[in-house]
Amino acid sequence: MTPVRVLSVASEIYPIIKTGGLADVAGALPIALAADDVEVRTLVPGYPDVMEALSGAGAIFEWPLFFGGASRLVQGSCGELKLFVLDAPHLFARPGNPYLSPEGVDWPDNGLRFAGLARMADNIGLGAVTSFLPDIVHAHDWQAALAPAYLHYSGRPRPGTVITVHNLAFQGRFPRSMLEAIGLPPDSLAVQGVEYYGDIGYLKAGLQFADRVTTVSPTYAREIQSDEGGMGLGGLLRTRSGDISGILNGIDTSVWNPATDPQIASRYDAGGLDRRAANKAALQQRFGLEPRADAFLLGVISRLSWQKGLDLLLEAFPALLGEDIQLAVLGSGDADLQERYRGAAQAHAGKVGAVIGYDEALAHLIQAGSDGLVVPSRFEPCGLTQLCALRYGAVPIVSRVGGLEDTVADADGAGGVATGFKFAPVTTDRLAGAVLRAHAAFADKPAWRTIQRNGMSTDVSWRNRASRYADLYREIVKTRAAPPSADTG
Ligand code: ADP
Repeated sequence: MTPVRVLSVASEIYPIIKTGGLADVAGALPIALAADDVEVRTLVPGYPDVMEALSGAGAIFEWPLFFGGASRLVQGSCGELKLFVLDAPHLFARPGNPYLSPEGVDWPDNGLRFAGLARMADNIGLGAVTSFLPDIVHAHDWQAALAPAYLHYSGRPRPGTVITVHNLAFQGRFPRSMLEAIGLPPDSLAVQGVEYYGDIGYLKAGLQFADRVTTVSPTYAREIQSDEGGMGLGGLLRTRSGDISGILNGIDTSVWNPATDPQIASRYDAGGLDRRAANKAALQQRFGLEPRADAFLLGVISRLSWQKGLDLLLEAFPALLGEDIQLAVLGSGDADLQERYRGAAQAHAGKVGAVIGYDEALAHLIQAGSDGLVVPSRFEPCGLTQLCALRYGAVPIVSRVGGLEDTVADADGAGGVATGFKFAPVTTDRLAGAVLRAHAAFADKPAWRTIQRNGMSTDVSWRNRASRYADLYREIVKTRAAPPSADTG
C-alpha cells in the first residue's frame, strides 16, 4: 500500500472538545486509519481546552497578524492523535462551547474564526510545514469548508481535497461584505464560486470545490440530493452526484464495550444478558422510576432539537404511558423541549425521568440499562447513539431516515437478523406504533434476546469504515497523478 498523508481539519475533536458526532468522527477516524497506512494530522482551533490537552507542543510558525491578531501554528499530540493547533487567542481563547457565547448565541465573528481555520489548512496544504506535506486535505463540515476553496483560488499545485458533510443543516452562511476580510478574490463571489443566495456560503464553497464529497451514510447521501433533504444545496449536490459517497460512521468499540465499561453498574456480554438487570435497576433509581424489572424501559440520549423529533415522543405519551412503559431521557438543547421534558417527568413521576444536561457517564448507563433506545429523528445523517445501543443490547427504535435506516434492521422483514424497530413516515402515530410493536416483542423473552444478540454482533466499529476513507484518498491521489486529467488548479 502506498502511504497517504492526510490533513484532517475539524472544529471539534473527541476527547478534547465535543458538541456532537463530528467530534467523535474527528477523534476516531485518524486512529483507525493508521491500519490502512494513512498518516493523519488534524488541524484544530486553539480553544483553551485544546491548549490544555496538548502535550509535547512546539510552535512551528508565528505571525504577528493573522486574521486580525497574533497567531501561532503549534504541533503536538493528545493520546494517539497528532495535532496541528491554530493558536490564535483573539479567535479561539474562549472557554465553553466552540460556537456559542455564554449567552448561548453564535459568536458574532464565527465567519472570521473558521475562515482562519480553513486558511491555515490551505497554508499547510500548500507546503507551509515542510515535514508534513499532505496528499489530501480533508475538511469536516462548514467550519473547515473554505479550505478547498482557498486551495482552488491559490492557483498553485495543491493536494487533493475531500469534504465530509456531518449535518447539512449547519451551513455557515455569512455576509458578502466579509469577502475581503477572509481573503477570497472578488471573482469568487459567483454562482460557480462561494456565493450562496447573495451571501457567502462556507459549506457551499466546500461542496463546490472539493474533489470528492462524502457524507456519513448511504441513505443520507441520497437524501441530501433531493430538494427537501438538500436544504438549499440539493441542486449543487445533484451536479456533484458522481463525486458523492456515503460512508457510515463507526464508534470507538473500546470506549463503548459493555464487557469492560467502568461507567456502568454491571458489566456483561452477549452471553450474559441477565447481568443487564443491575444496570436497569441503577438507571431506574437515577431517574426516579419505579424499580420494576419487568417494565419496558426506554432510553433517550440526544440533543433536544427539532431534528431529533423528540417533540413527537412527548406527543406519543398518551398512547404509551397507559402501557407498562418507562422513559429515561438525557438531553440538552432547545429551552422549550427542556421545559417540556422536565414538566413530563413531574407530571408522570415514576414513569418518566429527565436529566437535562450533557453527561457521558450517564449516557453509558442508559445504554447498558434500558431495554430500548428511541431515536425518532426527522433527519439523521448517521447517528451514533443507535450504534452504541446495538453494541449494548438496548434495542433501537428509530425512524427510517439517513443512517438510522442503514444501521438498524427491522424486526418485520429482516428474517433472522432483526436488530430493532423502524417507522416511517416520521409522525407521532408511527412512532407510537413502533414503540408498541417493540413492547409486544419484549414480552417474548427468547425472541427479544435474539434481537439483542443480533445487535450486539453487528459490526459498529471503525475498522471497515475507515478503510473506505483510505480507498477514497488513494483513488483521489491516483486520479490527480494520472495524466491527462491532472488538475492542479
Ligand atoms: P448529533 O451529532 O446530531 O448530536 P449523533 O448521534 O451523531 O448526534 O452524536 C451524538 C453524540 O453525542 C453521541 O455520542 C451521543 O451519545 C452524545 N450525546 C448527545 N447528547 C448527549 C447528552 N446529553 N449527554 C451525553 N452524551 C450525549
